[in-house]
Amino acid sequence: MQVIFLAEGADLDALSTAYGITKLYPESRILLPGAVSSSFRVAVKRFEKILKNKTIKKENLKTVSTLFLADTNNYQLAMKNLSSYTDENTQIIIYDHHPIRKKLPENVIKKIKKTGAATTIVVGEIKRKKIPLSPEEATLLALGIYEDTGSFTYATTTEKDMKTAAFLLKKGADLETIKSIIEERIDYEQISVIHQLIENIQYFLLKTQKIIFTFAYSDRYIPDISGFLHMIKPLQEADAFFVLINEKGKTSIIARSKNKKIDVGKIMSFLGGGGHIYAASATVKGMTVQEIKGYIEGLLLGEAYRNKKIEEFMSEEIILIEKDQTIEEVIEKADKAPVLFVVDKNGKFTGIVLSRVIKEGLKHGVKKAKVENFTIDSVITFQPQTTIAQAEKIISQSSQEYFPVIEKGKPVGVINRTYIIKVLHGQIFDAEKDIFISRERIKPKFLNFEKKIKKYIPQHILNHLIQIGRVSSYMGFNSFVVGGIVRDIVLGKKNLDIDIIVEGDAIELARRYAKEKSLPVHTFEEFMTAQITLETGEKIDLATARKETYTHPGAYPKVEKASIKEDLYRRDFTINTLAIDITEGRFGILVDYFNGLKDIKDRMIRVLHQLSFIEDPIRILRALRFAGRLGFKLGKPTEKLLKLAVDENMLELAPSGRINLELSYSLNEDRVVDILLLMDRYRVLHSLIPEFYMDEKREELLSRLRDTIISFEMFFEIKIDRVSNYLLALLYHLPFELSYRFLEKYHFHKAVKFFEEYYEVKDLFKELPQKDSELYKKIKFIKKDVLAFISASSDIELSERIIRILKKEEERNLLLSGKDLKKLGIPPSSLYRKILDDVFKKYLDGEIKNKEEALKYVKTKYLSN
Ligand code: ATP
Ligand code: MG
Repeated sequence: MQVIFLAEGADLDALSTAYGITKLYPESRILLPGAVSSSFRVAVKRFEKILKNKTIKKENLKTVSTLFLADTNNYQLAMKNLSSYTDENTQIIIYDHHPIRKKLPENVIKKIKKTGAATTIVVGEIKRKKIPLSPEEATLLALGIYEDTGSFTYATTTEKDMKTAAFLLKKGADLETIKSIIEERIDYEQISVIHQLIENIQYFLLKTQKIIFTFAYSDRYIPDISGFLHMIKPLQEADAFFVLINEKGKTSIIARSKNKKIDVGKIMSFLGGGGHIYAASATVKGMTVQEIKGYIEGLLLGEAYRNKKIEEFMSEEIILIEKDQTIEEVIEKADKAPVLFVVDKNGKFTGIVLSRVIKEGLKHGVKKAKVENFTIDSVITFQPQTTIAQAEKIISQSSQEYFPVIEKGKPVGVINRTYIIKVLHGQIFDAEKDIFISRERIKPKFLNFEKKIKKYIPQHILNHLIQIGRVSSYMGFNSFVVGGIVRDIVLGKKNLDIDIIVEGDAIELARRYAKEKSLPVHTFEEFMTAQITLETGEKIDLATARKETYTHPGAYPKVEKASIKEDLYRRDFTINTLAIDITEGRFGILVDYFNGLKDIKDRMIRVLHQLSFIEDPIRILRALRFAGRLGFKLGKPTEKLLKLAVDENMLELAPSGRINLELSYSLNEDRVVDILLLMDRYRVLHSLIPEFYMDEKREELLSRLRDTIISFEMFFEIKIDRVSNYLLALLYHLPFELSYRFLEKYHFHKAVKFFEEYYEVKDLFKELPQKDSELYKKIKFIKKDVLAFISASSDIELSERIIRILKKEEERNLLLSGKDLKKLGIPPSSLYRKILDDVFKKYLDGEIKNKEEALKYVKTKYLSN
């Protein structure tokens, strides 16, 4: 029997070559491989008639006398596949154009040439032997040449390929057919699989590494799927991915990694597959896609725990016995643990006794025997610092079940073999997997919010919204009010920041509406946004619905048009994902895609997906700002993800300008102290200012500063620089150079001046004069902003004195002015200044209490002669 062998995943060139061989050796039959390219499959169907009697199935094979290899020279593989049908008499003939990778035996006939297609080699022989070809056959043969030379455009194309194609054309090869088959690269099934793979992408975050799982179901094997994966952008961007394709209960896994810490070869080997660190695959039966995914996650987590120490996993509940004790004495303890630790007088470890042995011993009546006699003293032990990876090596070479953990000669814990294996398979950390979150609803929830929107948005703005909705509907767009304002409406708060998202084109809509109403409009083409200023001065922001991709953490994102849902998905927290439709006909409908409404009701800050804080670390600050401001809690997974992002120092990666902005917002919030305490609790302040610490003193200062600022602003009708004040409260313990470094890094230039002023005057208050008038001399040149800090950071007495003095200073003109002096008949001169200063001094010291007393004083002192 003559058989033609094709490699798995064979393409058109292989098929054409094989068919050519059947023309040369009419007895030979093609053994079709399990996996073939999609165009191969299309061609087999199209040329069904001429191929019908030329193929053979593996089960019908008998001893092979001649074995042809078509379009492959992998002799070893062919022999492995067909070992039971070949023997030393089997003649091997190879038709191929690939370079030879593994040495071929002498007796193999090698028809291997450097042509663009292997078909060229066989057809050359057909031509020489003048074997007749039908147009149908010529077409099938030409296919291989066209495909493998990229229709003669690939650099590997030779003159021979062209001449051979010309020969086949002369024989009637049909170009239409060739074109249609070659171009049919992606078939329907492949598209469906690719589509599913895109739809089903799920992220798994391991530390900061993005790992993607995705899966698809297919009715049949899709041969070239790994060749299509490069078209799926998220997969290309991930650190590693696992693509699971299930066909009829069997799942093929394609795994790729860019990071040598994620060794996909090793992971696939656990599933019976293989490969190397960066590329591997496996085929699994009898497990669902979800089970496989869970299993891989476990392995990934296990991998992540390899460098952790045994002390984190060991049980510290160990039972000690002394070596001189008798079986009888320790029998009760044997019931409590599977192993007992034997120690000497000094508590030093001498070995273990298996409880089982003690019980056995008792049964056999050896009550009085000493524990010593049953002690196993040559046990392998770990130290608390032994890593899981080291432990794995050791346990793999030993059959010991329990491993004592010894520190400085004394037993401190125990760990057993199965437990270590479980750690390595991530089974101990199942809980970590609940970090996997998605707040997405398949269908949004709709609620009628017309009444609420009317209640919380002033009438004149509401009218604009209604009309924007009308123009929007006319232009075929959908428009929504989104973000903070919707959140605040739900919370029953007013907010005048109107943000509109347009499914369509915000700039076009804004221009048209502004023109209609003769309102000024600014457009920002690059960001696809526009801003309209209303007659009354309020501003309305319009933005085209978009999705964003982050080039690196913290960077401003790139934008691309999208649906409202995608636009909402990129937002920071679920509470900010609510939208109210204002399009005509749907005005006032609240749209909730991500359970934002529930989270507002539950008072929870939650991110929308696992990577949120990594994509944009500024959200770390925003989360705590909202939590502090609204008195909300962080959702559990969100809290974990936030901590992880802080631990990974993600804030370092955020642009300093954005940190400045977000910190400034926080420091201007009413509940700034709560926010700062949260920032301390989650080590955010520490990550921005490494030398930072919070203690009771600072906590008290912050609260007092907050009250002082409010008093100052009320009494003196001024705006206090809160940012500088709070920054000083956070940094005053540091040498100025260190503070300065922080302030410069994050562009707090105003605060630098403020700090300088403070450091210049702070020592003035070390010694305090008795009289307020003397104290006034010290403070009169100091800015109120700085005085607020001095007041808040001093003892209550000084603080009250400062406020009292400043209040009196406010009243200075009411007490006595130049006008009053004029009325008293004193001619205007430089004396005025002296008199007024003198009176004010007395007022400060309480010697003059009011205007009446002031006038009296002036009369007696300056007019009496
Ligand atoms: P505020 O009441 O403080 O103005 P807000 O929610 O309106 O709160 P803005 O800073 O005005 O906050 O931002 C408007 C909207 O843009 C937010 O509701 C939020 O959905 C979104 N947003 C702002 N910053 C981010 C960010 N870093 N990542 C994702 N979404 C953001
Ligand atoms: Mg806002």
